[in-house]
Amino acid sequence: MKKHFLFTPGPTPIPPEALLAMAQPIDYHRSEDAVALIKDVLEKLKHVFQTENDVLFLTSSGTGAMEGAVANLLCNGDKVIVIRSGKFGERWAEICDAYGIDVIPIDVRPGDSVASEAVEAELSDNPDVQAVYATLCETSTGALHDIEALAGRTKHTPTLLVVDAVSALGADDLQMDNWGVDVVVSCSQKGLMTPPGLAFAALNGRAWEAVEQSDLPKYYLDFRKAHESGLKGSVPYTPAVTLLIALQIALNRICDEGIRNTITRHNRMALATRNAVKAIGLPLFATSPANTLTSIRLPEEIDGKAFVKMMRDRHGITYAGGQAELSGKIVRIAHLGWMNENDVIVAISAFERGLAEIGYDVSLGAGIAAAQEVFTKQTS
Ligand code: PMP
Repeated sequence: MKKHFLFTPGPTPIPPEALLAMAQPIDYHRSEDAVALIKDVLEKLKHVFQTENDVLFLTSSGTGAMEGAVANLLCNGDKVIVIRSGKFGERWAEICDAYGIDVIPIDVRPGDSVASEAVEAELSDNPDVQAVYATLCETSTGALHDIEALAGRTKHTPTLLVVDAVSALGADDLQMDNWGVDVVVSCSQKGLMTPPGLAFAALNGRAWEAVEQSDLPKYYLDFRKAHESGLKGSVPYTPAVTLLIALQIALNRICDEGIRNTITRHNRMALATRNAVKAIGLPLFATSPANTLTSIRLPEEIDGKAFVKMMRDRHGITYAGGQAELSGKIVRIAHLGWMNENDVIVAISAFERGLAEIGYDVSLGAGIAAAQEVFTKQTS
């Protein structure tokens, strides 16, 4: 009998009570219940974003909030710094290009994380830069960027720091207010344990000032409209009501656990996975790996694409493969959202077994033992 396990960095598994709630009859999005729902969700999101700033939402995937963070913050002729360390950093640059923004790229080798000194150097050469666009976890490589250090470079300058926390929100720490991050964007289908279709943005005071100045075209992605409506528990356009219901339930879980504990849980799952991979004898791909997912560099003799396909077809285990130039070369195992230590054991044991089945010399149980050690040490 096949049973499916989803270990991808989005979408992620959804708690059963959220799935059941989505099966209830749909409601009108202007009902009193919907107003209360929207207000409650936006309030709880503040806890997850670790901010006192308002959070707004859009009915779109995460990229909608990314595009909004370009269209709403910038003006024609603006110059920005974009950290490109993989597919999602590149996406910031592509969106800026689409809006005719002058991009100064800081290219980082895939798997590596940006040195804040490199950003500082560009900022001192280009003090007129309007914003730095960065990524908390570069999901295509599993690398974590030191956003606190970047904020340390931007917060005393007029330049805004805009962070893509699409995959890492709730898994890797991001203290928007304490660190001085100006804008954070994210989405529903990763750490927030909800299906794809909702995107979020939180902006601080100086980011809202930039919104007031912005002259780039926008309509559906207009942050001001989304923000003003959201404060009233309303929306400018028909929202994904069903997803909001699921999100409320998922957020209840995070708020009950407490965001700091949620991040600690992810940290423990990530540490166990990393130790397991090392015990199996394979190298990690990221030099500074995130809590969100673990990327594993595969030996030349393993065809990563075939491995990922085999695991899904034969075992019902879905890992993510590599993207673009990393296709076939890495495997990405997420430990994200509605997951705990037992899920990690499944992910690792299946990984070991899969490697053995394709003829790779692996000492079965080595990875599991390493992971169990992390878990038992931390609970005893
Ligand atoms: N940024 C990051 C870091 C991501 O992981 C993703 C999705 N994998 C995106 C942006 C794009 O989000 P979406 O596919 O929801 O538009």
